[in-house]
Amino acid sequence: MNSWTKAGFVYAHPDDESFLSAALIRQIADCGGRPVLLVATRGDAGQKNGDYGHVSKAELAAIRDREMAEAAELLGLENVVQLGYPDGRLNEAGDELVAAVERFLREHKVEAVFTFPPDGGNGHPDHIAISRAATAAATGGRCPNVRFLYYSWFPAMDSDGKKPDLAVETEPYWAVKAAALRAHDSQKYAIERYFGSLDRIREDRRHEKFVLGWQAAESEKEKRKA
Ligand SMILES: [Zn+2]
Repeated sequence: MNSWTKAGFVYAHPDDESFLSAALIRQIADCGGRPVLLVATRGDAGQKNGDYGHVSKAELAAIRDREMAEAAELLGLENVVQLGYPDGRLNEAGDELVAAVERFLREHKVEAVFTFPPDGGNGHPDHIAISRAATAAATGGRCPNVRFLYYSWFPAMDSDGKKPDLAVETEPYWAVKAAALRAHDSQKYAIERYFGSLDRIREDRRHEKFVLGWQAAESEKEKRKA
């Protein structure tokens, strides 16, 4: 399907991976590829719903670690690296975050990187910070295996005339995607706001879409030759 097998998903919070790319991750794993995930924060400043209203930040972090491990198992992620930066303040991490993403990409010999678009998609400062770091790490020349950088597609891109370069149908993977989302139980109200009931697929959630943000020069040459 793709010219790469090692895909690195670089996100800010546990659950970003299931919101944006559960079907793609499972598809890569099913096709013999090797998806790995970097999560920059433990999501301990995340919205808590009624059942979790009483837990401390440390308890919420531990709960979200367990939720992430369950989702990772369902999605077939080969590895999850948790950086443990303070949730909500990722923009303070600066160059240190770029270096951590570079280490992750090099260690796992990642060929294709997936992250948020530069505006964070929904404007969340942590999403903007991780997009900036992933872009710098992927394109800075210090991760020679990386050949492609993809951004998650958000509806606002429609008005910029942007078309997705990669679209994965969620229907064949819906059972897995829904199970991974349900694993993030502490976030169930946010998940419900975005997806509605997980028992059926909302029309606007039928695809996970991505736009190519960058590709290595030799990949462009290969493409022209083909
Ligand atoms: Zn997030």
